[in-house]
Amino acid sequence: MQSLIGQLLSLPTAARFGQLRYNYTLVIEHPMHDAWIAIQPPPSALSHKPQARMYITREETAAVIASSHCSSEMSSSEQPRTPSPAPAQETAGANADDTSGTHVSSGRPGFTAHNRKAVEELAHVEPDPAFFNDHLTACPNAVVEAIEKRSDVRRWVADISKVKTKEALLYQPVASLLTTISRVVFEHLQAAEDKDQLHLPERPIVFLDHHSHVPTHFPVGRVDDKPDIIGVVGPENAYNIAHDGTYEGVPYHCIETIVEAKAIYGDGQAQATRYAFNIQQARPDRPGLYCLSVKPGKFQVVYSSPVGIEASEHKPWDDCASLCAYIYSLYVPPEGHVLYDRTITAQEPAGVSLGKPTWTIETKDHVYSGAVIIFLGNPWGRRTTVFRVAREKRSVIIKEAYIDCDRRFNEADLLDHIHKGSFLPGVVRYITAEDVKNEDDAIILKKKDGTLTRKKRRLVLADIGQDLTLAESVNDLLMAIYDTLEVHRTLARNRQVLHRDMSLFNILMYPVSAPCETRWFCKDAPPLIDDVLQGELRPAEKRMARCLIIDLDNAASLVGAKADTVPEELRCRTGTPAYIARAVAGGSLYTTLTNLSWSEKMPELSGEAKNLYTKLYGEDRYNKYLDTHNTIHGGVPPQETLSASAARARKMTFYHLWEYDAESVFWTMYAALLRVVPKTSPKESEQSQDRLNRNWKMFYEHTIPRGCERDDTRNPLLDADEEKIAASLLPAMQEVALLIYNIARHVYPSYAVMTPPPPHEDHLHEAMQRLILQYLVDHRNNPIPLVPGKLRPVSFSDNPVINRGTYGATTQEQGSVPVVGVEAHTVDDIQAALKFAAKHNLRLVIKNTGHDYCGRSSGRDSFMVWTHRMKNITMHDAFRPAGSLSDESFEHAMTVQAGVQWLEAYNVANASGRTMVGAVAAGGSVGAAGGWVLGGGKSFITPVYGLGVDNALEFTLVLANGSHITTNAYEHPDLFWALRGGGGGTFGVVTSVTYKTYPNAPTVSASLIASVNSTQPAISSGPLAKAFTEFVRITPALTDAGWGGYITYGPGALGNFTYELVAIASNVSWEEANSTIIPYFDYVQALADNFSGSGTADTQLKISVAETTLYSSFPSWYMANIPASGLVGANLNIGSWLLPRDLVETNYTRVAETLAMVPNLSFEFIAGGAVSRVNASSTGLTPAWRKALIHTIFGVGWEDGTSAADISELQDTLKAASAKVRALAPDSGAYLNEASMFEPDPPKAFFGAHYDKLKAIKKVYDPMDLFVVLEGVGSDEWDRELRCKIR
Ligand SMILES: Cc1cc2nc3c(=O)[nH]c(=O)nc-3n(C[C@H](O)[C@H](O)[C@H](O)COP(=O)(O)OP(=O)(O)OC[C@H]3O[C@@H](n4cnc5c(N)ncnc54)[C@H](O)[C@@H]3O)c2cc1C
Repeated sequence: MQSLIGQLLSLPTAARFGQLRYNYTLVIEHPMHDAWIAIQPPPSALSHKPQARMYITREETAAVIASSHCSSEMSSSEQPRTPSPAPAQETAGANADDTSGTHVSSGRPGFTAHNRKAVEELAHVEPDPAFFNDHLTACPNAVVEAIEKRSDVRRWVADISKVKTKEALLYQPVASLLTTISRVVFEHLQAAEDKDQLHLPERPIVFLDHHSHVPTHFPVGRVDDKPDIIGVVGPENAYNIAHDGTYEGVPYHCIETIVEAKAIYGDGQAQATRYAFNIQQARPDRPGLYCLSVKPGKFQVVYSSPVGIEASEHKPWDDCASLCAYIYSLYVPPEGHVLYDRTITAQEPAGVSLGKPTWTIETKDHVYSGAVIIFLGNPWGRRTTVFRVAREKRSVIIKEAYIDCDRRFNEADLLDHIHKGSFLPGVVRYITAEDVKNEDDAIILKKKDGTLTRKKRRLVLADIGQDLTLAESVNDLLMAIYDTLEVHRTLARNRQVLHRDMSLFNILMYPVSAPCETRWFCKDAPPLIDDVLQGELRPAEKRMARCLIIDLDNAASLVGAKADTVPEELRCRTGTPAYIARAVAGGSLYTTLTNLSWSEKMPELSGEAKNLYTKLYGEDRYNKYLDTHNTIHGGVPPQETLSASAARARKMTFYHLWEYDAESVFWTMYAALLRVVPKTSPKESEQSQDRLNRNWKMFYEHTIPRGCERDDTRNPLLDADEEKIAASLLPAMQEVALLIYNIARHVYPSYAVMTPPPPHEDHLHEAMQRLILQYLVDHRNNPIPLVPGKLRPVSFSDNPVINRGTYGATTQEQGSVPVVGVEAHTVDDIQAALKFAAKHNLRLVIKNTGHDYCGRSSGRDSFMVWTHRMKNITMHDAFRPAGSLSDESFEHAMTVQAGVQWLEAYNVANASGRTMVGAVAAGGSVGAAGGWVLGGGKSFITPVYGLGVDNALEFTLVLANGSHITTNAYEHPDLFWALRGGGGGTFGVVTSVTYKTYPNAPTVSASLIASVNSTQPAISSGPLAKAFTEFVRITPALTDAGWGGYITYGPGALGNFTYELVAIASNVSWEEANSTIIPYFDYVQALADNFSGSGTADTQLKISVAETTLYSSFPSWYMANIPASGLVGANLNIGSWLLPRDLVETNYTRVAETLAMVPNLSFEFIAGGAVSRVNASSTGLTPAWRKALIHTIFGVGWEDGTSAADISELQDTLKAASAKVRALAPDSGAYLNEASMFEPDPPKAFFGAHYDKLKAIKKVYDPMDLFVVLEGVGSDEWDRELRCKIR
């Protein structure tokens, strides 16, 4: 978000001159006589096709919206997109692989960052006495001796040795000891002759106590590990120190090693190794990783890599040579212990130090930058990592894995074979497949005993697709499943390749295929579902599939796979636990007695479905699979007792049949259908929710047992009758339940036990496809539209892999926006709208300009009142507030209606030679009578004339009961008090505001732009930091002298770090203004002079502007400097805090140092002066404003298309920055209008001591809580979505 401040927050280049962008699609129209409401449904997430408009009356809208108010329906923001159940545990041994015998492996391991228990179990390894020889490089004796002699080292060893039980006492001395050793070793290596071949980091690794904080930016999902000590590349001051003196917020990609301390009895090794697990997942650039487990008296080194985990014996703390060997190996690992993959590097976002990185990946013929991790695999096995590189039309997917060198099949070879000579639609292709190399050295890791060697392979994929759960309709989803089965059987029959890992991860839909320029389309590709439904075979080059089968890591060649000569490969139990076929999971052909009953013959098609089938595939294919009177799927049920069959089944050897992949496709389809949300019946009932939870749990908890296991925990899903299945789905899906039930009856039996078994390997494919085809033909006109991307909620944790994203373009989903609203032109319109909303208990939002940073003028599924068209402005010669008994009157006061924007008001005022206190934004776009004034209303000239609330004389508004009232110091004074600071959208709909105006007066502006050539914040001793600190110091004097303005401090447009000051002084002469500001310009010039010629580029200060200018008035300054139009929105979240004058006066250095570290700072000296002269209790505004001198804003932004997980990481950065700034003045508060969405205590932050009174007034005027906004007065009684009252 380079130059976010420059774009949105800074002056004069762009003084937040635009509207925030909200992705709503509401279109409001206002035909003259009847208040019709137009709804435009959101564009379809996938097709972006415009949809037809519907016009409904107000009454009809009730049905649309009322159903969503206070319901248990989940919001898509709460729900992850991909429902991907995986087991809570993984059965393959940590070091196991999948190439021999009938042992277990898993294509999508259930290892995830969250499977803490399972991982920890696997993380425990027996100490290896040869570890120090085999896995570490000894540190030269001379270096060890030098280290041993150091007094600080001895002292720390002594401190460590004193610790008997408490692990916490180890943190500090261990971190210091290791840092010292690391520095000495680093210096030694720096001086080495072969230094250039060592690939040393730029700085030594230092060890930080991070025990009370979670490292940040785990790439996928969330992890809450807190490694006690982390080793990072220094210096320490590049990292943040928390209040408790420990470090915080170090991102995963900076961690080189970790140290886990344990009390005397704890198992530090397993825990340290589990932490290593996550770090390795987060660091695709680190093949291997060392970590240390420490406890009172001893330490133990662990090496973790894709070939497994090795641990040393425990060593006493005075064994300096062993400790040094650990540190030495961090820089110079022994042969075969590859610590770095130099083809991949982390890139922090420009200007966001310690921000979430993207990755730059170099393949042999291309450099891919901006790669984002979307999937993480087991780091102690193949460690598959999948990246997405966003491209305008089609993203590129890069997949890396550490492949067992003994594996017979590799994915790229299989894909070559599949697409040999022609492109088989429905199966992914690749652009590049290569062994990953550090220069000429392939990245190869070997187990010491020679039993396992893995090399790193990288595949860049050409085709992409979407998760099944993003289907737009049930029919679309079923069409993808149909084609998956068709493509799968073509693969098996024509290409002799069996996938063996069909799952929700590996079956995609809506494929976007790369052009097929150099190859032919496969002429023998079978008819696919689109051909069948259209009744006509498309030409080969147009015969695209509805599915994309990916990830052939576990695929095997079927060549030579006869029942009597089954290759070892096919006996391997492989698949993704939730979706794996029962026989494959259990290694047994028999799961319960019922699957030894064969009752369902090959389904017959009827009517149009049969005609279409035979037209496209021919009668022969149809008849080939039909049963005779004594066959089932072509096989013959055994003529023996059930128990005899069971006994025989137990003895039969399992090997991977085609039908098992078909079964996996069934589980995949079932899982997707369970979680999707039909548009017409999105609401859960208690029963459907309960059934869903139960069924989902069976998927989620399904495991691949270590030994042979007959009972499969998913059997109840197959046993369920149609009614039970229907009860677990939402109402619109009832007919789908019948389809699932029918297919399940074909999936259930163990066909291999028949005598003889079905003659055609694809019999189950055929049966499933027939049932799906019949359904699709019968339901052509009822596709059951789905809410794309929305998932039904489940009551327990979703699969941790849920956030893996899709192998494809990101999708757009309807955001937090209203579905319908009223474009109000008159007070009547508002009254009617409020009555309607109140009657139907709708979630109401009031929108004026939509500028609110917290989205308060919007709301998911809400009903909107839009005031933008109410544009009347009245200039009064003498204004007398209603009800005033005295002769009190205000000259040239101005009344603005609710939709007036500031530029419109300024123009009218200026025409009468008047100045108004109003917002400063491009196009003058902020509303003059909405949220701005209700929340406070700051301007550049507030130090001279006070805030917006101090200048408001009177409001008119419509209350929740529909009455239109006037409020001022005489009429409803309590409400008048509350409206001035109690916030927008809280007490009623304001229809007009009357303001004081002032005669135009000379205005002097001051501008200073200085920068250093660095994207990082300048170091604290640098000139930019000094310039800022000095400004903070003189701010009290400047505001006393009438100056008001902003400083922005952050990455500038040119990639350099920029300090930009824009200020104005009103009602003063040019000489007076210069006398207060020029000394500061001189100070900055002296800094530039002092630093020029010395230091590095990042300390050389360049001043590009330093000037003052005289204007005849504030409006003329405004017209000359503020663009007439500008940025209309940005993806950003902000934080803010008001800093009191006494803090700045007494501790300006701390203020400057803290603020210099926050992202994209805007330092606004717009308080003080007239603002602080107003009695704090005279308005509802938080009293913090009256003590404040400075308002700070800072923020994080992101590009379009950034994933939710990445945004959440950025928000974490923001929260951390907010905490630091808040800590400067915890008793102060924040400006409601420029507020963080994440304030921990909103009432205190935004309203302070006035909160209780504001709430009491709200109860009087809005007893039914029609008006509630995020973090507003009374919102503490509502859930976060403001749908349901919780108190
Ligand atoms: C580009 C930009 C520049 C800005 N510049 C300044 C600035 O110079 N000074 C400053 O103080 N702030 C500034 N702000 C912050 C601004 O004050 C807030 O965003 C404010 O909420 C905008 O009010 P609005 O009515 O224009 O926007 P909206 O987003 O439409 O409304 C904001 C809130 O007020 C409520 N509301 C709106 N109209 C009414 C009404 N008629 N009756 C009752 N409630 C209503 C809404 O429900 C919502 O809760 C700026 C914001 C942006 C995005």
